[in-house]
Amino acid sequence: MGNPLSENSMNITSQITNLQLKYPFKIARRATDAHRQVISVEIDGGIGETAPARFYGETVETVSIALETIAPALPNNLDAIHDVMATVETTLGGNYAAKSAIDMALHDRLGKKLGVPLYQLWGLNPQETPCTSFTIGLDDPEVMAEKTRHAAAYPILKVKLGMPRDIEIIKALRDVTDKPIYVDANTAWTPKAAVRKIRELAQYGVELIEQPTKPDDLAGLKFVRENSELPIIADESVKRASDIPALAECVDGINIKLVKCGGLLEAHRMIHVARTHGLLIMVGCMIESSLGITAAAHLTPLVDYADLDGNLLITNDLYTGVTLDNGKLILPKRPGIGVT
Ligand code: MG
Repeated sequence: MGNPLSENSMNITSQITNLQLKYPFKIARRATDAHRQVISVEIDGGIGETAPARFYGETVETVSIALETIAPALPNNLDAIHDVMATVETTLGGNYAAKSAIDMALHDRLGKKLGVPLYQLWGLNPQETPCTSFTIGLDDPEVMAEKTRHAAAYPILKVKLGMPRDIEIIKALRDVTDKPIYVDANTAWTPKAAVRKIRELAQYGVELIEQPTKPDDLAGLKFVRENSELPIIADESVKRASDIPALAECVDGINIKLVKCGGLLEAHRMIHVARTHGLLIMVGCMIESSLGITAAAHLTPLVDYADLDGNLLITNDLYTGVTLDNGKLILPKRPGIGVT
C-alpha cells in the first residue's frame, strides 16, 4: 500500500504506508477509523517510522515536508546522534513526529554499524521487559466484550472509555474476563465525573486510569488524583521531558510515546526526569507497524508498563521485530532496532 519512494535528498528517503486496521478503532475524542497512515524513513541504512497524529497537529504530509527541510541540514557525522538531533531540534521546531522518525533511523543505523541491538547499546537487560497491554477500542458493551473474548492471547487489557455507558462496559467485560484492566478515558471526563467513575471502576479490578480529564487542566488532574485510589497516568497532558515537573504533583505516572516526544533520545530524558520526580512510567504507541513498536519496546526494561500493541491491531504489518511470549515483550537480538 506504500506510495513510491520519494527522494528527499542524498540520504533521506521516505515512504507513506496505509496501515489497515483489523477492527474499526474508536476512542473517546475521535470518530472510527478504518486505516491509519505512517511514514517510514531511511537514513544511511538506518530505518525509522512515525505515526503522526492530527491531535498533535501533524500528518504524513507535514512529516514529508519536515524531512525535505532537514535533509540538506543534517551534519556529516551521523554517529553523534545527540549532535544530529540538536540540529534537528532547532531546524524542525514542532515537528515531533518527523523528529521521532529521524531519531529512530539514526539509532537503528548506529546499532547496525556497531553490530548491537538498541537495548545493548543502552546497557539494558532484555529480560526485564514487561508484558504489553492489548487495547479494546470504544464500542457498545457487547461488542467490547466480544473483542475481549478474541483477546485471549493477551494477559493485560487496556480499555478505552469516555462514554455515558462506561460502567456498563466494564461490567460487560468483567462478565468475560478477570484479567488486569487499564482504563484510558482519552480526556473525556470532567474532574468530578472522573472521581465518581474511578470509585466505581476500582470495584471492578481496574488497575490504573489514563488521562481522565482535559490535557491542559492540571488542577483537574490533581483533583482527580487526590480523590482517587487508582494510579492516574498522564498521556495527552505530557509530551516531553519539560512537561514533567509541572505534572509531578498532579499524576502518579506518565505515558511516553515516541511520536509525541520526538524520539528515543527524548524518551530517555523523560524516563530520567520522571524517575527523579518519583513517577510511574508507561511506554505507549499509536497505530504503528512493528518497526515503530519494536523501537519503543527497546526502552521497556526501564519502565513499569508497556502499551505497545499498535502492530497487533493491523493486518498489513511490513516488518517482523518484537514478539510476545504470553504477553511479555521479547526483543529481537539483531543489530539496531532489529526488524526484518
Ligand atoms: Mg492514552
